Amino acid sequence: MDPTAIGVIGLGTMGIGIVQVFASAGYQVLATDSQAPACASANHRLAAALASRVQAGKLTETDSIAILSRVRVVDGPARMAPVALAIEAVVEDLPVKRAIFSALERVIAPDSILASNTSSLPIAQMAEGLACPGRLVGLHFFNPAPAMKLVELVAHADTAPWVLPQVRALMKPVGKTLIDCPDRPGFIVNRCARPFYGEALALLEEGRSAAAMDAAMLAAGYRLGPFSLIDLVGADINLAATEGLNRAMGGHPRYHVFAALRAQAASGNLGRKTGKGFVFPD
Ligand code: NAD
Repeated sequence: MDPTAIGVIGLGTMGIGIVQVFASAGYQVLATDSQAPACASANHRLAAALASRVQAGKLTETDSIAILSRVRVVDGPARMAPVALAIEAVVEDLPVKRAIFSALERVIAPDSILASNTSSLPIAQMAEGLACPGRLVGLHFFNPAPAMKLVELVAHADTAPWVLPQVRALMKPVGKTLIDCPDRPGFIVNRCARPFYGEALALLEEGRSAAAMDAAMLAAGYRLGPFSLIDLVGADINLAATEGLNRAMGGHPRYHVFAALRAQAASGNLGRKTGKGFVFPD
């Protein structure tokens, strides 16, 4: 196992940001996605993100080149044998995530760690069926991963005692704020955020305008209104997280899945990643 190597599986909104975070902290990053276009565009997307930091005077050209040189796109989890930590950031779907972890645990060293960036799925359920469930944790980055300080760290009931100190040590150079969270649906932030989205979606269904609500929340001191936040996260991802919490909480009305959110996800206007959302790009 190479303590300087990190694996990232899934190179969408979150995955590419997580690649940037670890490569910027000096790690060698092996990155992969099941979709060829996501793999093919990964270096270009990362270069574009770094170029805007260079332009803003937050990064030197030399450092940007060094960061890019530390990232290698590989053709699947089977190529991740050397990594000390493998993080998945694929679709919010339990069987898909489980399949990735079982592929990873066949190749990585016994003292390497598996982590999920899930927003809402219980880590204990994800660990079921693994040969070594004790080395799986939740490592929940926020969007955009390079900018957001918080990472929720989630152990489950059977997490092995050596795992959390090792994760903390690996995360130290990254410079994020790690907060221990319970393995409860939505952990802390997504659980607290559900009623925020829910009340806004209820008002939308009552005929209020999304833009007016976002403007009100901004003027009230929030950094982003609920609809700008859904556009940032992706309506599909927000829907999957809400459905996950709703199921896990026995259909409690606090985690109601609003028709307006379902319709938005079904429309394909998912927010920033598709170029149009509830309020994006206005
Ligand atoms: P996304 O849709 O932008 O990207 C998902 C990527 O995973 C895609 O590139 C897809 O091709 C890839 N993928 C799908 N199945 C795969 C497989 N079997 N193997 C390899 N790659 C596969 O999604 P996202 O917004 O980046 O979310 C990813 C995860 O991060 C989800 O679990 C989500 O809940 C969580 N998350 C999302 C946000 C957010 O704001 N979007 C924030 C925190 C956590």
